Amino acid sequence: MNTKRLTPHDVEEAARVIASGGLLGIPTETVYGLGANGLDPDAVKAIFEAKGRPQDNPLILHVPDESWLERYCGAIPAAAHTLADRFWPGPLTMILPCKKAGDGTNIVPAAVTAGLDTVGMRCPDCAVTRAVIAAAGVPVAAPSGNTSGRPSPTSAAAMLEDMEGKIDAILDDGPCSVGVESTIIDLTVTPPRLLRPGGVTLEELEDALGEVAVDEAVRRLMAPGEQPKAPGMKYRHYAPRAPVTVVKGDADMTAGYIVARMGEKSGVICFDEFRGYFRGHIVESIGPVADQAQQARRIFEALRAFDHLEVTDIWAQSPGDEGIGLAVTNRLNKAAGFHIIEL
Ligand code: AMP
Ligand code: MG
Repeated sequence: MNTKRLTPHDVEEAARVIASGGLLGIPTETVYGLGANGLDPDAVKAIFEAKGRPQDNPLILHVPDESWLERYCGAIPAAAHTLADRFWPGPLTMILPCKKAGDGTNIVPAAVTAGLDTVGMRCPDCAVTRAVIAAAGVPVAAPSGNTSGRPSPTSAAAMLEDMEGKIDAILDDGPCSVGVESTIIDLTVTPPRLLRPGGVTLEELEDALGEVAVDEAVRRLMAPGEQPKAPGMKYRHYAPRAPVTVVKGDADMTAGYIVARMGEKSGVICFDEFRGYFRGHIVESIGPVADQAQQARRIFEALRAFDHLEVTDIWAQSPGDEGIGLAVTNRLNKAAGFHIIEL
């Protein structure tokens, strides 16, 4: 298959790819997604094949605005409207009950929900993608556009590294402005539960809703047999080929710790201010210590970069857990298989 490059001028053509059951690389503010018609089980199955994604890991349905919620979700709690009004379009996925058809089956195909009675709904903050979905007239099911297990793509070029020849087309709308996947909040439980941290922060959710629980899988490795509420959180994820060690603590101390222990061919992920510590090594800096938004935009590109470079292992300075830092540390910790040293 020849993967066609589309631009933001090609909304109609992109919508035809979706409507005809094809696979489309879609830009969003979080990461590039691998989209297909979310009501067409065969098209959805092709997403799993292109990614090599485990079948029990559900996809998110992308819609152009809040009014589409009631087409696919039933018993929508007031909190969903509160959050949609405040954060949509934006990097927030809400887990809601599936709407039932007359015969009692779910309207959203089991291929999307992995057979669950809930569905993840999101309205991306990307005008061209919302226009494509509206023109296609169907919700777009999309996970991140990487091969399963690899870092998510934050540019069309990064997505093509994994998906060239496997998808019909990709719509290039430049690099992603957030850089980590959407926040996932489960609104089918009380209190609402954060399943995956992302661009909408825990602090913002608490401000909107009051109490928000944080799923265990956000901060630690699941033991064998344990089932996190977001099935995707149990998989090894975001990982470059070389093993990663995360070092947590004051930035001066973590830099010193890494310098003292790294090998000749070790690579480093560090803050901009510390590049000079690691001269002679392959270094990917992710932004200044204080600029967490930049760290979020850079983290996946940094992890991906090492796959083109000769390193035996990778050391990473860990950002703090506040704001979007919770999402960045979650991705980094997962890339490291939760191999974390706390100073
Ligand atoms: P990705 O966009 O590649 O990160 O994949 C979508 C994520 O959403 C995965 O981590 C899924 O486990 C999660 N997800 C999608 N639907 C549901 C659902 N109904 N309940 C819980 N998690 C979900
Ligand atoms: Mg993913």
